[in-house]
Amino acid sequence: MRYSVTDPKRTVANRQGIGMTSQRTRERLVEVLRGLGVQNVNVLEVMRSTPRHLFLDEALAHRAYEDKSLPIGHNQTLSRPYTVARMSELLLASCPAKKVLEIGTGSGYQTCILAQLVPKVLTMERIEPLLNRARHRLQAMDIDNVVYKHGDGYEGWPAREPFDGIIVTAAPSTVPQALQWQLAEGGCMIIPVGDDDQCLLKITRSGNHFSKQKVEAANFVPLVNGLI
Ligand code: SAH
Repeated sequence: MRYSVTDPKRTVANRQGIGMTSQRTRERLVEVLRGLGVQNVNVLEVMRSTPRHLFLDEALAHRAYEDKSLPIGHNQTLSRPYTVARMSELLLASCPAKKVLEIGTGSGYQTCILAQLVPKVLTMERIEPLLNRARHRLQAMDIDNVVYKHGDGYEGWPAREPFDGIIVTAAPSTVPQALQWQLAEGGCMIIPVGDDDQCLLKITRSGNHFSKQKVEAANFVPLVNGLI
């Protein structure tokens, strides 16, 4: 794979994982993802090789390979592995994903997965300390095809549009208009929408028309206005 992660500059124990972060535990997670219907072999391989425990506080690292969302501070969560894999797979199947905008960097885990699957990722986060921590993590892993912005995802990143793909990892009540207009022709956006009753949508641009397809039920933290 062209955009694969080179060895993180971490201790060997951290890199290989011990106990609940071992390679066997990761293999089990990949089997769970397969069982849930994730099929893209590149996505599964990247999920297998990416050390998710490095995106969590040490106290939670032993739970990193459970298919669960986990807290990352500031009332936010690291997305569930199934969700990360499914959104990545959908994006790759739906558009020529060369340049991808991610809204909601959080821990940087989804960013890290995407950066190994597409040539260029631009990621935005409203909570600056989370963004900085994610940037340091990915830089320590030699991931160098990501650009970071402390900004409000409702506005997207007008200076860098158009995007072949947009992935939103927090749920607005309705699709942000500014974001969909930053899609390239034929581009697609994977976004959870709704308040209590969320649905993951795939939105594809064709000229000035945006076709919406419901994918499945979702459960994300809300997309919130304003910066911290
Ligand atoms: N993909 C992340 C998931 C983080 S949860 C991961 O794998 O860790 C969603 C993230 O979206 C949170 O970090 C939250 O702060 C961020 N977020 C919420 N509203 C936002 C907005 N308007 N603009 C940018 N980021 C936002």
